[in-house]
Amino acid sequence: MTNKHFDVIIIGSGPAGYTAGIYTSRASLRVAIFEGMQPGGQLTITSDIENFPGFEKGITGTELMLNMKKQAQKFGTVCIGDTIKKVNFDKYPFTLFSGKDEEYTADAVIIATGATARTLKTESEKKYWGYGISACATCDGFFFRGKDVFVVGGGDTAMEDANYLTHFANSVTIVHRRQGFRASQIMLERTKANPKISFLLDSVVEEFVGVTKGNNPILTGLKIRNVMSNEIKEYNTDGVFLAIGHTPNTELFKDILDMNSDNYLITHESCKTNITGVFACGDVQDNIFRQAVTAAGSGCKAGMTAERWLMEQRNRNS
Ligand code: NDP
Repeated sequence: MTNKHFDVIIIGSGPAGYTAGIYTSRASLRVAIFEGMQPGGQLTITSDIENFPGFEKGITGTELMLNMKKQAQKFGTVCIGDTIKKVNFDKYPFTLFSGKDEEYTADAVIIATGATARTLKTESEKKYWGYGISACATCDGFFFRGKDVFVVGGGDTAMEDANYLTHFANSVTIVHRRQGFRASQIMLERTKANPKISFLLDSVVEEFVGVTKGNNPILTGLKIRNVMSNEIKEYNTDGVFLAIGHTPNTELFKDILDMNSDNYLITHESCKTNITGVFACGDVQDNIFRQAVTAAGSGCKAGMTAERWLMEQRNRNS
């Protein structure tokens, strides 16, 4: 095992992690980012991003994340292609154990591990993900102007997504696996009152279908099974939005950091967690907005707070 020390270690390489890297390394701190299993995070599995400010013509998720990575590296951030499998925040400096069995220490830690959209775990869904299937109506709804789309789920996100999608789509069909809804009454009533929205209840998606054009798959429909009758029907559609919840990537911090009932990290003002010197930013502590720009914004806050906190510690000890 080798021992490596950094002023700041950032866990996670989405917009929050890279932005925290840009701010802390630009402040002349020695910074490492653990990029995890999916360098660049969730954005690398989306297609075009049209709502990240500064890119008038849009940018692909992969390109945006590569730009952020290069910008962080320009100021000296070390990007490490490894995961963190265990942390010890009981003693200072903090110790982090990597997936490749390396041991690292840090004076401050910024957690930016994100949240993962729940999926239906079908093979056909993997094939059309980003090519007709999305988990973010705010990000991708615009591409479905005049189209007939489906939303899967019965919670507030499904209702909110369905209503939002009616700004663009010709029709929106909500597919939900039972009769009862998890969504709040007010959201449900608003959704039921929207003439562009219809419901398929007691229904589950069996399979996504499509064609291949050039090298890219294109979603053209989906097969839906009624769970009461077991009857399967095929519907034509250009887009399916999954709104079946997100899982924050916080398993590593269970019984260590404060979390809410949905396992999102609880942060206090300026991205501080309940452990002094440990900060969190991005979707791992935000189950409301979940946007690249809000994640980047909170990465900036975490980076600035960590830098100020480190300076205070060092001034006190000098
Ligand atoms: P929820 O967990 O509330 O709802 C998920 C929905 O997806 C449920 O209807 C669930 O069905 C369904 N589902 C889960 N897994 C599957 C599956 N494998 N196949 C089919 N359906 C599935 O998640 P949300 O993202 O909707 O909401 C998360 C939190 O954020 C909630 O507290 C919500 O209130 C809040 N929120 C608030 C908003 C607002 O106030 N404006 C907007 C959006 C979210 P079932 O019910 O049968 O379990």
